[in-house]
Amino acid sequence: MTTEELRTSLLSAPKNGYTSLTPEQRAEMEAYCKRYSAFMDACKTEREATAWAVETAEKYGFKEIVPGMKLQPGDKVYKNNRGKSIMLAVIGSASLNEGANICAAHVDSPRMDLKPNPLYEDSEIAYFKTHYYGGIKKYQWVTVPLALHGVVYRKDGSVITITIGEDESDPILCVSDLLIHLSADQMKKPLAEGIVGEQLNVILGTEPIEGEGSDLVKLNIMKLLNEKYGLIEADFLSAELTIVPAGRCREVGLDRSLLGAYGHDDRVCAYAEIEPLLTMDIPTHTAVCILADKEEIGSVGISGMQSRAFDTFMQDLCDSTGANLNRCFENSFCLSADVSNAFDPNFAETCDKRNNSMLNRGISICKYTGSRGKGGASDASAEAMGHVRTTLDNAGVLWQIATLGKVDQGGGGTVAAYMANRNIVTVDAGVPVLSMHAPMELVSKLDCYMTMLACKAIYLA
Ligand code: MN
Ligand code: MN
Repeated sequence: MTTEELRTSLLSAPKNGYTSLTPEQRAEMEAYCKRYSAFMDACKTEREATAWAVETAEKYGFKEIVPGMKLQPGDKVYKNNRGKSIMLAVIGSASLNEGANICAAHVDSPRMDLKPNPLYEDSEIAYFKTHYYGGIKKYQWVTVPLALHGVVYRKDGSVITITIGEDESDPILCVSDLLIHLSADQMKKPLAEGIVGEQLNVILGTEPIEGEGSDLVKLNIMKLLNEKYGLIEADFLSAELTIVPAGRCREVGLDRSLLGAYGHDDRVCAYAEIEPLLTMDIPTHTAVCILADKEEIGSVGISGMQSRAFDTFMQDLCDSTGANLNRCFENSFCLSADVSNAFDPNFAETCDKRNNSMLNRGISICKYTGSRGKGGASDASAEAMGHVRTTLDNAGVLWQIATLGKVDQGGGGTVAAYMANRNIVTVDAGVPVLSMHAPMELVSKLDCYMTMLACKAIYLA
């Protein structure tokens, strides 16, 4: 053999995915990304994503699972976990004792939640006080257009859904930053301290209501909220209102090869796993799709992946088909579908380029996440990685390897460890992202499309 023949037969040579994309795939990719963008515009919170999933799944024949119901191969069911997360399944021809093929993504994203007593006035400006949710670089969240999303439970039991800042005719909201002219002290601070949590106060208005006394601007804002939604100040105590970046998912780049949006992490994987499930024929193994909440704060709480809500759903599936939950878990496979960090040449020193995911090379497969010696990672086995490698190669899906930055540079986690704790073989995989957790994150269309194909292949494995 010549050196060149040895090189091609022995060494890996990762390539940009555009070098192998067929015209048909390209057309499919563009159509898929249009559907994904529409989903992103409709869903900026876990509640909105769950509501969208319930409505869409029902259109495709999914029914809410009822404990004790009998299920047959091909039946499509879902469980709406209190409006904050959802689990869906298409029953396979094989017994659940042989395991399910699970894709698990999350639909919560970093943002600024309103505090329980949010509304105040200072220096004749009305504000909402916030407490950020998930990991954010606080300086990124000032002087950008913001929107208010959420729900309010009023004392009479009625629920008000609020979205302000997304319609072109809506006002938007904003957090101010200090002018550069007076920033001598601020500019000397470390980046993490330039803007601090208690400065993430959202401007609501400046016009005082007519009359005497204090807080006339605040009172005017409360009056507006009362006229439009019937709210009184005490209603904030039983609300989940959150501040997210305003605006739509947009094509980015002169070649339009990227998508820019708030919250690709992790709705880009959530959409990739739910779309192929909707139209699925009877799979061999039961296909399960999870859109989880609370991943950004540790998968905790009743709607997070550590909750027994998932076990209860799987128990119901087993009961309805005469299977055993422990056997089912023991033989299941889970793709923990979550984003990775795309290599950014502007910050090359933070990554090991040989082991980092790159834009346009397909879904990134992550053997382990974690930090400081893989701490907190589920660290997939060679067998698990082999299963994914074979499945994706056989399905013609472009994929690459990912690690979350250089050793000891930082780190992170996903739902993978909580799935593996249930005795389910689990591998992390997802779309590489630039500017993860920023108000606008970037992903490549090609990687979005390949991630959807990967989820489909995993369901059918
Ligand atoms: Mn994530
Ligand atoms: Mn995240």
